[in-house]
Amino acid sequence: MPPFARVAVIGLGLIGSSVARAVRQAMPTVRLTGHDADADVRTAAIRLDLCDDVADTPGAAVTDADLVILCVPVGAIGAAAAEIAADLPADAVVTDVGSSKGSVARSLAAALPGVAIVPAHPVAGTERSGPEAGFASLFQGRWCILTPTTGSPPEAVERVSAFWRRLGAEVELMDPDHHDRVLAVTSHLPHLIAYTIVGTASDLEEVTRSEVIKYSAGGFRDFTRIAASDPTMWRDVFLSNREAVLDMLQRFSEDLSALQRAIRWGDGDTLHDLFTRTRAVRRSIVEQGQDDAREDFGRSHP
Ligand code: NAP
Repeated sequence: MPPFARVAVIGLGLIGSSVARAVRQAMPTVRLTGHDADADVRTAAIRLDLCDDVADTPGAAVTDADLVILCVPVGAIGAAAAEIAADLPADAVVTDVGSSKGSVARSLAAALPGVAIVPAHPVAGTERSGPEAGFASLFQGRWCILTPTTGSPPEAVERVSAFWRRLGAEVELMDPDHHDRVLAVTSHLPHLIAYTIVGTASDLEEVTRSEVIKYSAGGFRDFTRIAASDPTMWRDVFLSNREAVLDMLQRFSEDLSALQRAIRWGDGDTLHDLFTRTRAVRRSIVEQGQDDAREDFGRSHP
């Protein structure tokens, strides 16, 4: 038996449409409803047959649901929750997929007092957005971090965990503030660095833009994939996870200054030691199945 029988997905972009596709595949008996604020996305969702029913209003999407998943940008989660409040069945569980958790947990609790809320973050995604970009296997073998609060009923936490496991994810529970610090360093800071490098390269005057693109296989192009990520989503991530990101950025700046000094003084040992440690990190990621061992920089493109 699926842990929920009637699931409503609010926000049918990359993550929402992937959830819908994965539910269809893994739990075909579940009745799926969906809604997106964007009428074009709703039309696409109908064409792609993502749900049994695509509702024109958020209220109509959730009226019968026993699980509601908010798959909207972090800055819109509070508003999306407020929009469903009046139509939410009393026994429904509400969860989300937002990339930061502390501020999301607070805005969900404020918008939905007395509701069983289990904030969550599937650590899986791509640089693309919109309903066409989703795919059913997105969560296979990836982590989904649940950040229950003191108000989250244990039974609801267990059912949401079971739901994500059915979609192929591995589930871990974490304190919301700890989640935000971990993700600040593993996801948010790398995105900020990628946005910076690509921005710096495109602002250079002595190296032409066509040269940057022509010789990008030297490493630059791997940053451009991350820096192509959705601007609205990432604006909201940085604004909502401000403290943790600023803290990690401070440490990063200090480490960068130390490297700058090592290069200036010809201190090759410092550089070599760091690069040896970082190579081992890469090996661990491959060993733990979070990436495959195929070479990347020299990869062939069709
Ligand atoms: P997306 O592809 O841009 O989809 C978000 C959709 O939500 C858009 O169609 C958007 O419409 C719609 N929306 C915005 N406000 C809404 C509201 N109040 N009610 C209903 N629909 C609304 O974004 P995504 O990549 O799926 O990201 C969704 C969430 O997943 C974010 O919280 C993000 O932090 C999280 N997440 C993303 C990734 C990733 O790699 N992308 C990974 C893990 C978690 P408009 O475009 O018209 O605003």
